[in-house]
Amino acid sequence: MTGRPQRITGALYVDTGQEVRSVRWIKPPRARYECLLCRTVEGPVTGAEAVARFVATIRTDHPTRCTANYKGVQAA
Ligand SMILES: [Zn+2]
Repeated sequence: MTGRPQRITGALYVDTGQEVRSVRWIKPPRARYECLLCRTVEGPVTGAEAVARFVATIRTDHPTRCTANYKGVQAA
């Protein structure tokens, strides 16, 4: 990773949820990803583990199935 920011191609929304005494979630963590190019919404996923995995992979996973693959729309 370099310090140079990538062009924004999608929006990642993460809700860390609310936990009660580390026992149960009154509001589970959620995350979803909205691609700004193909308008696809991935997720939402819920649960701490699923959210962590989703956040870690979606920015590299989505382009592999993006219907508006941004390599072809550089002029936009
Ligand atoms: Zn897309």
